[in-house]
Amino acid sequence: MTAQPDIANLRAAPVERRPILEARDVSKRFVKRLDLAGRIARRLGSSIREETVHAVDGVNLTVGAGEVVGLVGESGCGKSTFGRMVAGILPPTEGSLAFDGKPVWQGGKVAGHDTALAIQMIFQDPFASLDPRMRVEEIIGEAPLVHGMVGRKGLADYVAETMLRVGLDPDFRRRYPHQFSGGQRQRIGIARALAVKPRFLVCDEAIAALDVSIQAQVINLFMDLRADLDLTYLFISHDLSVVEHIADRVVIMYLGRVVEVAATEDIFDAPNHPYTQALLSEVPRIELRRRQYQPVKGEIPSPLDPPSGCHFHPRCPHATERCRIERPALKEIAPDRWSACHLND
Ligand code: SF4
Repeated sequence: MTAQPDIANLRAAPVERRPILEARDVSKRFVKRLDLAGRIARRLGSSIREETVHAVDGVNLTVGAGEVVGLVGESGCGKSTFGRMVAGILPPTEGSLAFDGKPVWQGGKVAGHDTALAIQMIFQDPFASLDPRMRVEEIIGEAPLVHGMVGRKGLADYVAETMLRVGLDPDFRRRYPHQFSGGQRQRIGIARALAVKPRFLVCDEAIAALDVSIQAQVINLFMDLRADLDLTYLFISHDLSVVEHIADRVVIMYLGRVVEVAATEDIFDAPNHPYTQALLSEVPRIELRRRQYQPVKGEIPSPLDPPSGCHFHPRCPHATERCRIERPALKEIAPDRWSACHLND
């Protein structure tokens, strides 16, 4: 779903590029345990094994302070898993994540309260992420109270101020989540995140579940908050057109790997990677590009058994024998433009 008609170009003027988030060779694997039948078969001598899902495979990414980075790819490409590792929800299997020079993870645990609070996540389904038994004032006020950011005496004012900041009427503070619309519930989720004074927001398909008209309002809210509170965003979406107007840079992921990174204008003006081109062909408003690029064919392969070489080769119209054998490295093809495709050699 897109929300462009009501969205002006919200990208800011040149952003400060001091790195605030640095991911180095970050990977995440999930082991799919054998079910009962599988365990019995193994005991009886079968060679059946547990399967491993390579959800994220060696991702390197730097996000500058104040920057909005759009992380885009089809469902199952690992972008949400990467976002959860950044937000301190899932530990990486390999690699390191640093926020403001300090590790996010240490020994499989979130390294410290400060980092955990500084990076907050906004989820796709605001209803599922809000406790239906809690009043809005509790949802928003709980974490800052627990972490000593506000005392009981000042809590009501603190909650009211946070609600106003996201466009909610503080008179509704004693209501429950089900008494709000979808857009309002997402504002409650944003208020809950803001209440602990984060510096970095990971927005995981944060507008995907909302009506188109509401999507535009929530995107505008995110960008107002960026300007007012000096926030940095990792904006995860399956839809390139959602990030077009808000992201400074776009990172394209395919089956756990980053395949292209470029300034948003460059991605839209001259996408390099065949997968990015295929995604662009599906952006409905860009008629010329739709004619120019071929849409992506078929389903994304299973991360349980990803294709050899370039993961994209079974769907790529330009694939050669080399693509089936050799993994293309992510290379700088122009200043601040990176792509992982043998066609650039
Ligand atoms: Fe296509 Fe080969 Fe480039 Fe992969 S490396 S995107 S298969 S041309």
